[in-house]
Amino acid sequence: MRVVVIGAGVTGLSTARLLTRYRGVDVVVVERNPDVGWGVSKANTSIIHPCHEEDPDKHPLRTKLCLEGHNTWYRWVRELDIDARWPGEIIIATSREEYRVLKHYHRLAMRNGVPGVRIIDRDELLRIEPSVNPDSVAGLYAPSAGTIDPVGACIALAENIVDNGGRILFNTEVRDVVVRDRRVRGVKTSRGFIEADIVVNAAGLYADIISRMAGINDYNIHPRRGQYILYDRMAEPKPDKIIHTAPTPKTKGVYIVKTVENTLLIGPTAEDLPPDMRDATYPTREGIEYILRNASKIISRLPPRSLVIRMFAGLRPEPSTGTFILRFHEDPWGFVEATGIRSPGLTAAPGIARYIIDLIKEHVDLVEKEKWNPFRRGIRRVKELGLTERNKLIREDPRYGRIICKCMGVSEAEIVEAVERMRKIGVEEITFDGVKFRVHAMYGRCQGTFCRPEISLILSRLTGKPPWMMRFKDHGSFYGVGEVKDLFRRG
Ligand SMILES: Cc1cc2nc3c(=O)[nH]c(=O)nc-3n(C[C@H](O)[C@H](O)[C@H](O)COP(=O)(O)OP(=O)(O)OC[C@H]3O[C@@H](n4cnc5c(N)ncnc54)[C@H](O)[C@@H]3O)c2cc1C
Repeated sequence: MRVVVIGAGVTGLSTARLLTRYRGVDVVVVERNPDVGWGVSKANTSIIHPCHEEDPDKHPLRTKLCLEGHNTWYRWVRELDIDARWPGEIIIATSREEYRVLKHYHRLAMRNGVPGVRIIDRDELLRIEPSVNPDSVAGLYAPSAGTIDPVGACIALAENIVDNGGRILFNTEVRDVVVRDRRVRGVKTSRGFIEADIVVNAAGLYADIISRMAGINDYNIHPRRGQYILYDRMAEPKPDKIIHTAPTPKTKGVYIVKTVENTLLIGPTAEDLPPDMRDATYPTREGIEYILRNASKIISRLPPRSLVIRMFAGLRPEPSTGTFILRFHEDPWGFVEATGIRSPGLTAAPGIARYIIDLIKEHVDLVEKEKWNPFRRGIRRVKELGLTERNKLIREDPRYGRIICKCMGVSEAEIVEAVERMRKIGVEEITFDGVKFRVHAMYGRCQGTFCRPEISLILSRLTGKPPWMMRFKDHGSFYGVGEVKDLFRRG
């Protein structure tokens, strides 16, 4: 039996990973981008929410899957060697009205069985996080919250899928879902027809368009933009705990997060955009000002703006139903939706994947393989090794001693390994972003200004293409326009 999963975001990849556990299932992930995790999963707050902000009366399934996902990530990050921190989070109240909001979420925490959640008074709050705004009146502390590297998670899932016999087809856009005799038969793609017994739609922002291809037309998706400001690792103050303003019905509030790379992330906004703006992943002046204004409510002093290294935006796929859409259709039989995966979709992904497998199991017999490998190891990072280990490694392979990205301490050997791993999962187009997300080169203060020329030479050597033909991310974004001498000669 072949299952085609549309979309190599965290939802599609989590589902595909679980599918590889079963005997006789040919798992094929189809992704239109050149690499994994470049859709919604790329730009988000990266929090693994404790789920005390989910209301089981309003969204029972979402609450259940968020709780399940949160608990499962603890295991998955170990199995798959994903960068993660579990510092806990605090919602800050700066007024009586916000204090009432804290009490509401405290009650939800009790109902949802989220462990250890408690209201802390101003003194304790300032003791735990001295950098918070002294005007705060109280906080709601949830010790189980964490943050992960979201694209790193997608990469790890993809490597594990391929290790377990699954395949990922990149640069392959689904253009139609083929239905005959009220059953899905496969998908028409930009590279031809792929036959399938079951098609799982996990296409993020574009999932409603895919559903319509299969004749399902009962929901829409619109983008809700979230903008961010990222500060350099040197930025201070950098609270250890994840801190945020009180949530509203539309958003979980503005966060201050020390990321797994030790940078400081603040944001997001929550701006509803029309459905035709599904690629509006650019920040705006108003958005940035909104973030700075709200973040100043959380901590007494924001780091200087000279330490901002990046501003960016992500788009939440907001479904008209207001909640996740998880269905196995009888008509057309075999069309499965894991769509409308808005926040907290990253947290819920392992739960969503398990739920989708259960839906499939209600329709076909799935038998577990005797051998399935849940483990994957990440790329060894020279900067994380002690001196003795580092020296040993450099003696074995001198490329570990050539530090290419000075900001993040990334060696040539790590970049070469990133390229080898991209090829192993089927990536055809080796991009700067592909390298960046795997080894965190070009992630630091200079954002690649100093190391990108050197990296382009390494990639040129490995791919046989001229350095200027290296791409940043997708089609059309070349690093340069040609050889300088050649361009001059041609005038
Ligand atoms: C601003 C913001 C903040 C967030 N913060 C958090 C948070 O802190 N914690 C949390 O739990 N969640 C958070 N989320 C939600 C979370 O990021 C998403 O729910 C999750 O990433 C959705 O993943 P996905 O795989 O469903 O979608 P995607 O990652 O978008 O994956 C879908 C994939 O399908 C591909 N695709 C689309 N159409 C086609 C086609 N026709 N053919 C082939 N491929 C196609 C796309 O290229 C894409 O790669 C946030 C989201 C945003 C935007």
